[in-house]
Amino acid sequence: MPIYEYKCTKCGKTFDFFARKVAEAAEKCPECGAPNPRKQFSTFSTGEGGVSSEGSSCVTGTCPTGTCPL
Ligand SMILES: [Zn+2]
Repeated sequence: MPIYEYKCTKCGKTFDFFARKVAEAAEKCPECGAPNPRKQFSTFSTGEGGVSSEGSSCVTGTCPTGTCPL
């Protein structure tokens, strides 16, 4: 299960988002409800789902975790 770290652009709270699908993204801050929290490129999530689906640098077959949707 992919786990992404997000940071709210409004209140600055960071939180982990447990995606049920790789392409799923957090829609709002759990603290203040502000929309579109910013996805963090965390340095600690080397486990499953550690590669962000954001951007297009990861191409099919090269994703280290094999979980990248691209
Ligand atoms: Zn917030």
